[in-house]
Amino acid sequence: MAALVQERLIAGLQRIVGAAAVMDAPAARSQYANDQWWYAIAASGAGHPVSTPDVAVKPQTPEQVAEIVQLANELRVPITPWGGGSGVQGAANADRGGIILDLRALDRVRSIDEKSLTCVVEAGKTVREFEAELNAKGLTFTHYPASTEWATIGGSIAARGSGVLSSKYGKIEDHVLNLEFVTPTGELVHTPSVPRHAVGPELTQLQIGAEGTLGVVTAATVKLRLLPKKRVFLVVSFANLADGIEAGRLIMVTGLRPPVMRLYDHHAASHSLARAVETPLEHPTFVMMFDGEYPDLVELEAAKAREICLAHNGKLLPDSIGEMWWERRYVFYYPPYAPELPSIWGTVDVVADFEHIEAVYHETTKAIRAAVPDKWNLSLTTHLSHWYEWGSMIYARMKIPTGPSDLAEAKALHDAVFKAGVEAAMRAGALMNDHHGVGIRLAPFMEAQYGAGMDTLRRIKAAMDPNNILCPGKLGF
Ligand SMILES: Cc1cc2nc3c(=O)[nH]c(=O)nc-3n(C[C@H](O)[C@H](O)[C@H](O)COP(=O)(O)OP(=O)(O)OC[C@H]3O[C@@H](n4cnc5c(N)ncnc54)[C@H](O)[C@@H]3O)c2cc1C
Repeated sequence: MAALVQERLIAGLQRIVGAAAVMDAPAARSQYANDQWWYAIAASGAGHPVSTPDVAVKPQTPEQVAEIVQLANELRVPITPWGGGSGVQGAANADRGGIILDLRALDRVRSIDEKSLTCVVEAGKTVREFEAELNAKGLTFTHYPASTEWATIGGSIAARGSGVLSSKYGKIEDHVLNLEFVTPTGELVHTPSVPRHAVGPELTQLQIGAEGTLGVVTAATVKLRLLPKKRVFLVVSFANLADGIEAGRLIMVTGLRPPVMRLYDHHAASHSLARAVETPLEHPTFVMMFDGEYPDLVELEAAKAREICLAHNGKLLPDSIGEMWWERRYVFYYPPYAPELPSIWGTVDVVADFEHIEAVYHETTKAIRAAVPDKWNLSLTTHLSHWYEWGSMIYARMKIPTGPSDLAEAKALHDAVFKAGVEAAMRAGALMNDHHGVGIRLAPFMEAQYGAGMDTLRRIKAAMDPNNILCPGKLGF
């Protein structure tokens, strides 16, 4: 960035938020050197970060966010919003320099309506803190991502996130009633106050999943729920995955709604799941949890699901495995269960309808295995972790314990795995992502995913962000 622009930028930001909230010293900026995308972590480790912001700024009000965006337009400086930096697709990295807009000081719960069970919460609040505040009042947000400690409300909305309770309560787009956001040209907008209406297209949904390219979310009105009075667990092993998928399909299409539905293939069951629940497991294993206000209804729902599983050759395992899974549900994602450098890792998570899901599982996992030469000892554990009335998704988690020592070669291997997995999934009838977003990692596949629709998306982006200020290059824009 030219020295004169840099000078005007820093002075302008300091005027808007005060000097203490503007971070331009290298040490302060280095905390934004990578999100949780494997390559961003590896590149930072090698001393060549993907994310090279010229400055980071921490606004405290939506009005300050609007002023910052206006300043960036004046100076033609890119902005990348930063929530918790927990994204895994590279979306939060400032790969073209400019401003990192750290939203974590917008962290208030503005109001709770205990009659309607709605709440206005600011975008920078972490999911964990929000949930803890609600639990103290007997309420819950029911969005339980494994990254709950870092992920913010705004980041969850921007990346279209999902949590372990999604099969009953939905993904983040099902929790959001309306939004307050700053447009790419710096206007503060409120979307209609209730989401069911006939007053034109829905601006709220345009922002959800836009990964910061079409606006900066500053607050959301979200649904709350009563904390459940009863939880019942059901754990079933199946001789083959197809029987488990069919049981899951019948549970969903007959209107049963376990919030937790996780079907682990035999690799995932015998490796990660068995280790987490301290029980030897050999076969595909389904972990389910049912919850609700009325204990008798919860028991009945679990009993019906049990019948369906038994009718599909399921073998019941002790419920205590489910209870242990619930207690330890996030351990899978952190060391020693989650990989660290020098490993290469990543998850191909794709979504399809029931007609295609089994083929998607087989084709995607086959393609990933074929993309990695034997010498690299690929480990691939897969589970179907979010279920819908019409389909499910597969979460294929790959790890190469020690890949090529040269970073460019390691990236080429990583990219080859994703290309093989994503393209095979799309050929078999899947969409390329269920809940982690696109970011930098999946941007090359957007054209193939959307076809002619990509041109429409680009025109929306160009009309809303004429100076290409917000997250330029992300989402394939
Ligand atoms: C260990 C681990 C476990 C995970 N488990 C899950 C899981 O269970 N479910 C799940 O969905 N994801 C999971 N993730 C991925 C990640 O946590 C989610 O994508 C999360 O939604 C990102 O939130 P964040 O606040 O960290 O956003 P960031 O990573 O900071 O940003 C993500 C994107 O959103 C944009 N953005 C952030 N805030 C805003 C805002 N206010 N307005 C506009 N744009 C914004 C950023 O520019 C970027 O494009 C996991 C990640 C890790 C590392």
